[in-house]
Amino acid sequence: MRDKSVLRKLLGLCVSTVVVVGRELVEGRGGGRDRLDIWLRAKVGVRGRCGKCGTVSPWFDKGGGERRWRHIDMGMATCELVAEAPRVSCREHGVTVAEVSFARHDSAFTRAFEDLVVFDAIVSNKLAAARRHGISWRAVDHMCIRVATEALGRIDLLEGLVAIAIDEVKYKKGHKYLTVVCDHLTGRVIWAMKGRNKETVRAFFDALGEERAGQLQFVTCDGAEWIRSVIAERAPEAIVCLDTFHLIGWATAALDEVRREEWNTLRRNGGAHAAKEFKGLRWMLLRNWENLSSKQKGTIRDLERANKRAFRAWQLKEELRDVMSMPFMAARRGLDSWLAYASRSKLTPFVKLARTIRHYRDSIEATIEWKLTNGISESNNAAIGRIRSAARGFHDPESFITMIMLNRAGIAPQLPWSTTS
Ligand SMILES: [Zn+2]
Repeated sequence: MRDKSVLRKLLGLCVSTVVVVGRELVEGRGGGRDRLDIWLRAKVGVRGRCGKCGTVSPWFDKGGGERRWRHIDMGMATCELVAEAPRVSCREHGVTVAEVSFARHDSAFTRAFEDLVVFDAIVSNKLAAARRHGISWRAVDHMCIRVATEALGRIDLLEGLVAIAIDEVKYKKGHKYLTVVCDHLTGRVIWAMKGRNKETVRAFFDALGEERAGQLQFVTCDGAEWIRSVIAERAPEAIVCLDTFHLIGWATAALDEVRREEWNTLRRNGGAHAAKEFKGLRWMLLRNWENLSSKQKGTIRDLERANKRAFRAWQLKEELRDVMSMPFMAARRGLDSWLAYASRSKLTPFVKLARTIRHYRDSIEATIEWKLTNGISESNNAAIGRIRSAARGFHDPESFITMIMLNRAGIAPQLPWSTTS
């Protein structure tokens, strides 16, 4: 293989659009890295295209002369591609810099380099990616936006939806939330926006459009009125299911309330030691039975004698979990007896919860009947939490949304040398 061909292969450049016309290794000064400059020109006969839309457009002028694009490093050296950047006259966009095959419009980096950096930012975070490639955090942030925008322009995530989950996600302390919509079939996040109110949910349905909203068969969510009222308004045909994730969350909160009351009673009655011991039970009680060690299980069995009220509350939480995993008919019967038991339990938080569950009974039964489990909400919630903590919080909701979409919408770039697509 000739040197030039080896070089072109190493650079991953497309043979049908560009020609390598020269190269130079520029020595780094003051301990800096060496830089390999590669001069390119468009292949003769390749017609100029608009940088914004890719439409073949007539030549306008030579533009601002030479431009540079940082490319993937070559061994120890960094690498830059250098080429003329003529302008074309697009019918729609007017005079624009012509498209180059190896870079996105308006970027100082090649497509391959950007894909690599964004890939790294997704698996670690933007700061780590910035350090790894010796560029600024802001540059990484812009790459993420460019890559996500390009991918989202290519695919329509709102096409063919049948069952979706609508949920809220915290992005910052002090009640700052995003509304996030997932597709139950693919498990992907398909839409996200700052805010959690009726206007936010309406914005989703505006994006979806009337026809596609009419094709929605199931929507899962929690009991939030701001979600439910808009579903009733925009997708009245859809069956609304109550997310199991939230339902169990309610039962866990009720259990914690009982535990707190009992602890306070013990303290008031002077049982300081018993109270202290009881406080330590908190996390054990809230965990799922199957995740407890045998010693912890023993402690919970002892609770039956030690504190009947706390034990009853724990039983009610675990029983509700069981009911949610039963086949439909058994679950309906199970729910009846659960509601009777909870109502008579003399535990105020569970009496209240029984009332709430009666109110949402149709939604809960729909969840069991259609087996729309909490898997999607749970795994997306966990993943979004990881994204948030990897970045140590987000100040800008748009930047958080970009990372959520890159991570969870199935639009993450592949490594530049990946051969599958
Ligand atoms: Zn154009």
